[in-house]
Amino acid sequence: MNKLEVGILGATGMVGQRFVSLLENHPWFELAWLAASDRSAGKTYAEACSWRLREPMPESARRLAVHECQTGAQGGKIPQLLFASLDSKVAGEVEQEFARAGHVVVSNSSNHRMEPDVPLLIPEVNPDHLALVTAQRRERGWKGMIVTNPNCTTVGLAMSLAPIEQAFGLEKVLMTSMQAVSGAGYPGVPTLDILGNVIPHIAGEEEKVEQETQKLLGKLSDGRVRPGDFAVSAHCNRVLVEDGHMESVSVALKSKASVEDLIAAWRKFRALPQERRLPSAPAHPIVVREEKDRPQPKFDVNTERGMATVIGRVRPCPVLQFKYMALSHNTIRGAAGAALLNAELMKSEGYLD
Ligand code: NAP
Repeated sequence: MNKLEVGILGATGMVGQRFVSLLENHPWFELAWLAASDRSAGKTYAEACSWRLREPMPESARRLAVHECQTGAQGGKIPQLLFASLDSKVAGEVEQEFARAGHVVVSNSSNHRMEPDVPLLIPEVNPDHLALVTAQRRERGWKGMIVTNPNCTTVGLAMSLAPIEQAFGLEKVLMTSMQAVSGAGYPGVPTLDILGNVIPHIAGEEEKVEQETQKLLGKLSDGRVRPGDFAVSAHCNRVLVEDGHMESVSVALKSKASVEDLIAAWRKFRALPQERRLPSAPAHPIVVREEKDRPQPKFDVNTERGMATVIGRVRPCPVLQFKYMALSHNTIRGAAGAALLNAELMKSEGYLD
């Protein structure tokens, strides 16, 4: 199979670096074009990027030129499929400009996620929401499109909720996060703010988790998503962990269930990405651990190459009904890996033909 050339908008940042790394040797996609701010444009990727991943920068990316985030001929031939991990201050405008010019923009940024005609996707949870792009292109007169993945904290929560919503219905959800510093980008949170500390505020994060979870678990009807009818309350905290967002979750369900029922629902959960064996799909999207002190970011964050949600400590909750811990890799399943899986779903559905 000929590989499809792809580009990255925001290639030099924390998430952009994950894209570069995950795209190395991808069976369907070939990295061909990079863009970032005018601070980086005109340099090679090796010169422009302050590489922060443990694995080395792929040789094939080192010599690629970094372009400005502008449509048209300045960057040579710009691929149709673009992954986007831009600072949200500029992502809104730039993504629209590229979609208007005919590009398929698969975005990590929050700017367009909650727009009614923009799919907010987790391929295991709501692949049918992809159909929103038909109305998006028609109503906006675009040749291209924008498809988004959720916030890095929402994804682990929504993955853990989807099987229990399907089996028992959800009434109430309470989530407290402990979020890694890599979630704030690079250079991110100043050392003196986070060292020996917990920061109980991440701007806009709680609202994103609450709204996005309801959109993700909502039903597509008459070309629009009707949000899930359960209540979600989120508390978000930044902690001194490198990668991996931990979440303490309590839920009340609509129908009767036991701890064993929940665990069984999570363990048997498989969806379209697993059926179709999409290249980035985890074989087990949810992994339930039995040990009383797991999951932990240090040991479990890379489960299934960082694409699984790891659940543990499932037990009764005296206030709601059940409580558990969930862990998800914020720059892989919460960002670049999520977007890659979205693009793989789009390709398998014929949206990139
Ligand atoms: P980051 O490390 O700060 O990287 C931001 C990227 O945007 C860099 O490539 C930067 O290029 C580029 N950029 C900044 N200003 C620009 C401008 N005026 N024009 C064009 N490009 C510009 O941020 P990040 O953590 O990778 O996050 C990127 C996006 O993904 C954000 O919207 C964030 O909310 C979202 N996200 C992040 C995570 C996570 O865990 N980190 C998870 C989910 C979603 P230069 O290097 O040239 O400045």
